[in-house]
Amino acid sequence: MIEAIQMKCNKCKKPTVFEIEQGWDIPPEVVVAKCQRCENKGVREVTDFMKEPVRCTKCGAWKMEGLSCSICAKINAPSA
Ligand SMILES: [Zn+2]
Ligand SMILES: [Zn+2]
Repeated sequence: MIEAIQMKCNKCKKPTVFEIEQGWDIPPEVVVAKCQRCENKGVREVTDFMKEPVRCTKCGAWKMEGLSCSICAKINAPSA
């Protein structure tokens, strides 16, 4: 079962991690995916997938392979 995918977000205009929502009564060739960055949600075709992201070894969130984790970046950001 696919839990997350990496593809270009139409709103962010760049590749991001999308989390797959389970439990939808939809055909197997599509998924309901939500952008981790802007929370833009929609039905996407499986053929849109670039690749599966990897898990961050620090916080366990999905992140794009080779890039730093956005969740860890938020945690580590100096608070105002
Ligand atoms: Zn987005
Ligand atoms: Zn992380």
